[in-house]
Amino acid sequence: MNRDRLIEKLKAIDVTGKTEQELYTEISKACMSEIMETPQKAPAKTVSYFSVEFLMGRMFFNNLMALGVLDEAKEIFEEKGFDLNCFEDVEDAALGNGGLGRLAACYLDSAANLGYPMCGYGIRYQYGLFKQRFEDGCQIEEADDWLKIWGDPWSVRRADEKIDVVFKDMTVTAVPYDMPIYGKRINTLRLFQAEGSPEAEKISEYLYPADDTEDGKLLRIRQEYFFSAAAVGQLVKNFTKKNGKNFDRFPEFHVFQLNDTHAVFAVAEFLRLLTKEYKLTFVHAVDIAKKTFNYTNHTILPEALECWDVKLVEKILPEVAHILTRLHLHAKREWDMSYSVEDTTEMSIVRGGRFSMANVAVYVSGRVNGVAEIHTEILKKRLFAAAYKNASYKFLNVTNGVTPRRWLMLCNRELADFYDESLGLKWRFDLNELREIHCTNENNLKAFAAIKAIKKRQLAEYIEQKEGVKLLPDAIYVSQVKRLHEYKRQLMTALAILYLYFDLKDGKLPDFTPMVFIFGAKAAGGYKRAKAIIKFINDIAELVNGDEEVNARLQVVFVQNYGVSYAEKIIPGTDVSLQVSTAGFEASGTGNMKFMMNGAVTLGTLDGANIEIVEATRGWHNYIFGAKVTEIEKIKANYDPCEFVAQNLKIKRVTDTLTDGTFEDEGGELKEVYASLFEQTYNSPDHYLVLYDLPQYLETLLMVNRDYQDKELFARKQLANATHSARFSSDRAIEEYAEKIWKLNISH
Ligand SMILES: *Cc1c(COP(=O)(O)O)cnc(C)c1O
Repeated sequence: MNRDRLIEKLKAIDVTGKTEQELYTEISKACMSEIMETPQKAPAKTVSYFSVEFLMGRMFFNNLMALGVLDEAKEIFEEKGFDLNCFEDVEDAALGNGGLGRLAACYLDSAANLGYPMCGYGIRYQYGLFKQRFEDGCQIEEADDWLKIWGDPWSVRRADEKIDVVFKDMTVTAVPYDMPIYGKRINTLRLFQAEGSPEAEKISEYLYPADDTEDGKLLRIRQEYFFSAAAVGQLVKNFTKKNGKNFDRFPEFHVFQLNDTHAVFAVAEFLRLLTKEYKLTFVHAVDIAKKTFNYTNHTILPEALECWDVKLVEKILPEVAHILTRLHLHAKREWDMSYSVEDTTEMSIVRGGRFSMANVAVYVSGRVNGVAEIHTEILKKRLFAAAYKNASYKFLNVTNGVTPRRWLMLCNRELADFYDESLGLKWRFDLNELREIHCTNENNLKAFAAIKAIKKRQLAEYIEQKEGVKLLPDAIYVSQVKRLHEYKRQLMTALAILYLYFDLKDGKLPDFTPMVFIFGAKAAGGYKRAKAIIKFINDIAELVNGDEEVNARLQVVFVQNYGVSYAEKIIPGTDVSLQVSTAGFEASGTGNMKFMMNGAVTLGTLDGANIEIVEATRGWHNYIFGAKVTEIEKIKANYDPCEFVAQNLKIKRVTDTLTDGTFEDEGGELKEVYASLFEQTYNSPDHYLVLYDLPQYLETLLMVNRDYQDKELFARKQLANATHSARFSSDRAIEEYAEKIWKLNISH
């Protein structure tokens, strides 16, 4: 990359008479031309990272920062009378749902910045995750036509590298769109677009189409096979161009990482190609696959562990179904020699007429990893216990991480500048250097507190502009932003807020420091209860914010259309990060890490990476409450939420608001939420222990509220979090993958 030449190109751009969109394209293309002209050394070994989601967010500012021209570009265009900040309106590339997709994006960024060759493979959805707005407090979903206004100047269509993907009833053309990921190396995110008949094009239309019908399930299977087969097809073909059929050498040049089970069809396609096209024996092909594939598990929620009906797969992919069945028998023969019947059944690829995609992945993968220490332990002890007993060498932990470039340097310039002034630039390459910033030093605390105040003010301005709600300026900003799911327990926070509300009205909290609760979350289209929880929180916001008696001390705002760009505003402006999932359910969390990096304290349960966050700050800087993983089973054995509430009338008062007419509930949605707490529904009553953990949650919230009165002490906790966040950088995570799983030896 020639920086001077890029600056000249930017200077040469004429702004007169051009629309924002035209300039966006022109400036982006100028950067792209420089990136594309940068020569790349052919790598010895490349990681192929398969993921059905890539939640990239906005590329413009991130890429200009990566190219080292962001500030100068802003100045250049300011002189021309054009404000680059108007590109804050550019749509996010939201080709993902949440943490899983954002992790893939962070890993691409880190691999490029560390110089590891990695190519991401996924789907170029025409519509990203839906856009959300609220009407009468209810979620309204709109198609996210992300390409319509701003286009996609950061990708290059590579029609020359298109490949056919064959289903029984149709052939689909997979056309790659390559997005360069700029760092020490330039890596690629390759997303495939489905082209051909209208039926074919449906494959890359939507992310996670509804799968409650057979047609829906078939479409999902098509999507998964589509991008897996396209990627594997190209990789294998390119390999044979250089190495002929010497597939024993394949693992020397390629390592595959399956980001969850959505790309497990890649295994079947790999075996199919090697046996059918290149005539290797099945045993030989499996042997090579075992040296190539690795699998990351992201969840233990039963509904997320994919199983596909054998009959369904047979219908559109008979050869693939045949290969998977053969793999099942192959594995069984291997196991029958030494393993118990129970273990073999548990590890089986075909179970009850369905393919267990996780079991395929575990069987074939050289390494299987969980994403936080506690999660990996749960995989070993529960989810994959039999496989662990029989092949324990496969299992390891790699705790997730987030990229400090987007999640610190880009979204919190003020903090990054403070680090630069204190330490020079070395921390930018190793966050461990931040530990040199002493958290007891008065000047550091003052500087940090001033930065936090600025970020809170910026957030308040942004929320006022977007939502029309004016945040209390001198309050504690408490945020819970993440997908809406019962296990994440936004409902528990809602009930806690009502409890505080009633106590404030009753005059029971005389020394209460004003608190602002900020929510952001999308509920999956078909997830009724999650949508009802959104409505409940919006109802509470209306009640609390409209009540003159309390609204100077308590405030609630649920922002619309939470996504990467909104997160970049909320996270730096937050004092307290809520990470309150039921212990054992949040595999890792990555939101928690972004907050930590920006100096928010965590108020959470001992779940996922929260445990490691507390460890990293040696305890007292964060707030932990609630049932522990080891206690849950015992609690549940004797737990009756009705009885629990009967003994705790103040909790009854807040749960009663779901049914007593406090809030309008014509459709009965709130009543259904109430039922989920007290009755057997599709889960046991209060399956996620919302009520059980609520008293301790409240105590902890009030403890935070009291502690905050000592501003200096609280700033110390916050700064300690920020300066001890190195372990949660995706640079650390990628180094671990490179060393322990991918065996990449790059000198850098
Ligand atoms: C980081 C991130 C997530 C993941 O948040 P968790 O709290 O770990 O669930 C989800 N959505 C967006 C937009 C993110 O940036």
